[in-house]
Amino acid sequence: MSAPPAASAATITNALTIDVEDYFQVSAFAPYIARGDWDLRECRVEHNVQRILELLDRHRVHATFFTLGWIAQRYPALVRSIVAAGHELASHGYGHERASDLSKAAFSDDIGRAKGLLEDLSGQEVKGYRAPSFSIGVGNLWAFDCLAAAGYRYSSSIYPIQHDHYGMPDAPRFAHYVREGLLEVPVTTLRMLKRNLPASGGGYFRLLPYGVSRWMFRRVNDSDKQAAVFYFHPWEIDSEQPRIAGIDRKTRFRHYVNIDRNFAKLEQLLGDFSWGRMDRIFLNRDANEVCVG
Ligand SMILES: [Zn+2]
Repeated sequence: MSAPPAASAATITNALTIDVEDYFQVSAFAPYIARGDWDLRECRVEHNVQRILELLDRHRVHATFFTLGWIAQRYPALVRSIVAAGHELASHGYGHERASDLSKAAFSDDIGRAKGLLEDLSGQEVKGYRAPSFSIGVGNLWAFDCLAAAGYRYSSSIYPIQHDHYGMPDAPRFAHYVREGLLEVPVTTLRMLKRNLPASGGGYFRLLPYGVSRWMFRRVNDSDKQAAVFYFHPWEIDSEQPRIAGIDRKTRFRHYVNIDRNFAKLEQLLGDFSWGRMDRIFLNRDANEVCVG
């Protein structure tokens, strides 16, 4: 891989990403909420995305919204308001099924359907894809063949950590070409004690004190000289969301921990770093970089 130009936290623009799905669609709830019941649930994504759009506008930040086809189909005005505000519309697949649970044909259908739907609604090319629950790893690298064939130009689907639900700890930590014309941009980890620690958002950001997250992003910018990739979900700022009954303790903790404080933490994060869209940060790279995997 070619050496990145020298830079620091003051000059590096980090990628801000939002996975647009509702609280009842998270993979950890799949054993408790039947897919066929999604339409019966109170939908809160429109209101929560509106709050996010206001937050970003206040900080004059553009972000990338990895949007579920299922959501886009039901809330076309939501998609249009994301695009109208200058953000990048990207794909989170259609039905929030883990890539690792699908056949190659079913995965191709899902990512093609989402791309077509989002492009029809927005009138713009959809370049980016993020797999639900970072579900691309050593067991299904064929997914990159499908993404390249469907015309995606980058993916942000690998989490280079050890985790019980996802992860590919030996994957490169930063952007790398995985197929001709297809860049993989892993979400951010911190390299410490010969291990990669999760540093990019979601439940870890809610769990850790804000100062720890800020320190980790600074390390990535200052020591690794790389842009960080941060992610969160609309339901992670919604302390009023309906509680799902009967779930196991670990799932309950991971989903609800510190949701009531998260919006204020995001305000701080947006103020402390420079943020931008995935496509603008990563798609102008040297096309001769080494292809891995
Ligand atoms: Zn998701």
